[in-house]
Amino acid sequence: MPGLLLVVSAPSGAGKTSICRETLRAFPELRFSVSSTTRPPRPGEVDGKDYFFLSPEEFRERIGRGEFIEWVENYGQLYGTAKNTMDAFLAQGHDLILDIEPRGAKAIREVYPRAVFILILPPSLDELKSRLAKRGESAAVMERRLRTALDEIRAALWYDYVVFNDRLDEAVDRFRAVYLAEKCRRGRHDERIAAFLS
Ligand code: 5GP
Repeated sequence: MPGLLLVVSAPSGAGKTSICRETLRAFPELRFSVSSTTRPPRPGEVDGKDYFFLSPEEFRERIGRGEFIEWVENYGQLYGTAKNTMDAFLAQGHDLILDIEPRGAKAIREVYPRAVFILILPPSLDELKSRLAKRGESAAVMERRLRTALDEIRAALWYDYVVFNDRLDEAVDRFRAVYLAEKCRRGRHDERIAAFLS
């Protein structure tokens, strides 16, 4: 049985990283798909775990060699999902979380139509504003971030599920519920059911 692909997107401030981290901790068969990027590592980020941090030249070479299923330019930096690593995990039966933005998600849908698309949102616009404000940026930067966040939400209205993150533990429960329900889809178990009947 090939693994299940969970594609997760969220505007910044939604708490996506925490929800994914908690879920990954609870399910050892679930793995995180490590993307490649040209953006510099943030404090605490580890090469090969959070991202593969590449120079722009190396990234472009990999694009040229056709190594990415999808890649985008985001905030002036390149981000991409490598096909080999993903297929290897799925073939081994692992389930995978892909943390990517909606343009990349659409490209993934073309290649993996059975992937499951989950949008994580803060509970309300006011809460989104206050979470962005806590980052202590100027009003102009805040305004820009808010617009970007709303654009990202609009771009993801075709997703299968939405998880509102009002309280982290409840949001993690909902996220797990989606994952487990998708694992139980009858279509994923036809062979096993057939074994009962043969
Ligand atoms: P950050 O720089 O904050 O880690 O990520 C910025 C944005 O890039 C997030 O929306 C994240 O989901 C997205 N992203 C991360 N990796 C990939 C990828 O491989 N492909 C695409 N399309 N987006 C990605």
